[in-house]
Amino acid sequence: MEAEKFAQVVVIGAGPGGYAAAFRAADLGKKVLLIDRDPTLGGVCLNRGCIPSKALLHIAKVIHDASSLAALGVTFGDPQIDIEAIRNYKNVIVTKMNDGIAQMARARQVETMQGSASFQSDSEIRVTRGSDTVKVTFDNCIIAGGSSSAMLPGIPVDDPGVLTSRTALDIADIPQTLLVIGGGIIGLELGQVYAALGTQVSVVEFLPHLIPGADRDLVKPLEHRLKKQFQEIRVSSKVTEVKRKKQGRLQVTIESDLDSHQETYDKVLVAVGRKPNTELLNLEKTTVTMDIFAIGDIIGNPMLAHKATHEGKVAAEVICGLPAVFDARAIPSVIYTHPEVAWSGLTEMEAQEQGIAYEKGEFPWAASGRGQAVGAIQGKTKILFNPNTKKTLGIGMVGPGAGDMISEGTLAIELGADAEDISLTVHPHPTLSETLAFSAEVFEGTVTDLYLPGKEKGFK
Ligand code: NAD
Repeated sequence: MEAEKFAQVVVIGAGPGGYAAAFRAADLGKKVLLIDRDPTLGGVCLNRGCIPSKALLHIAKVIHDASSLAALGVTFGDPQIDIEAIRNYKNVIVTKMNDGIAQMARARQVETMQGSASFQSDSEIRVTRGSDTVKVTFDNCIIAGGSSSAMLPGIPVDDPGVLTSRTALDIADIPQTLLVIGGGIIGLELGQVYAALGTQVSVVEFLPHLIPGADRDLVKPLEHRLKKQFQEIRVSSKVTEVKRKKQGRLQVTIESDLDSHQETYDKVLVAVGRKPNTELLNLEKTTVTMDIFAIGDIIGNPMLAHKATHEGKVAAEVICGLPAVFDARAIPSVIYTHPEVAWSGLTEMEAQEQGIAYEKGEFPWAASGRGQAVGAIQGKTKILFNPNTKKTLGIGMVGPGAGDMISEGTLAIELGADAEDISLTVHPHPTLSETLAFSAEVFEGTVTDLYLPGKEKGFK
């Protein structure tokens, strides 16, 4: 006989959005069931995304930093790579975090269940694991089913040489050559990891620029670094076919407006975006009433863990009768490459496309003492302001630590801070965070760490 269960709140998907929703609902007094296909909690982000990739990017950064000391008079030998130890380092971090989430679930008496959930009606799901099924009824359900790597036609997905972000993070080996299809966030982050480990990495990007969603000036310093690190970067090009050759390598057909040619690689990483995991849920069995909520990647872009977490909490609070709403003014984006690229709120590209009036203040890190001291002179910070109200519209940064510092800009947007609020906030010296205040000063014409003839003014 099929087992049966009831929970006041069922959460499908235990990623950062799902477990935040489950824990918040439990903290507010609900009996919660948290379901995931995976045996461990944490979703793609923890198990095969954000966290393992950051562990590997940390290694890549230290390798780069160590070798860049040669120019400053400190030389190390070539790195000796123990791939098994690296894999272990990454796996231990993931397991520690898995255990932490499981402990927090137990402490809150959130029941967890492994299996695939599919809807039977507006108030019932069936959870399947192997030949076992459980019928689960609920008062409210939060769908936090996440997303999966998108694939391209003409690519043999089952070939072990064809990687997705998931399998690339397993670092089964260090291929001699790797083609990354897609010059977006995942492609460049993982491309940099493999390049640091010794792989010759090439990138094919369909659009004319890498990271097409970010302002060009912010991507430029990263591009500059990647041109040195990668074997080849091809933009305005697409891969139309990947075929396993008899000799064992992958033959890739690359097309652009100019030509079509073939190259061979040991491995190919497909990083052309992600698609929501809606097809498994059997949503046609529901009318998706207000008792069912959806959060995170499954509802579309931006597919970012921090967005999902906030949405998850809001969904839980609404279910529990609290007057919650998700109305973030800005959701930061960070590319954790070296250098990091980060932005929040309005980008210049969006402002220009949408005809939104703005003025900007920007500060090159080459003029920052700390930027010089840590060799981050390619970095920069810029802030877009409303020319009338002087309120912060958007912020962008490139350089080490940009992903952490962007939070100040996001707070400025959330609080409706104007240029003076930022420039008159005392920032510690010498830090890269000062460049935020300096950018606001550039906008106001009060900067003394740059000389901009003709721009000096009183307060605007
Ligand atoms: P992405 O959208 O960042 O990049 C995909 C890239 O592939 C784009 O530049 C696109 O133009 C290109 N592309 C598409 N079709 C192509 C083709 N046929 N040939 C060559 N290039 C092609 O997507 P992603 O890097 O796969 O990441 C997926 C999602 O995961 C993103 O939406 C992102 O939000 C999320 N993510 C975020 C982080 C982070 O926050 N640091 C890290 C990883 C993933």
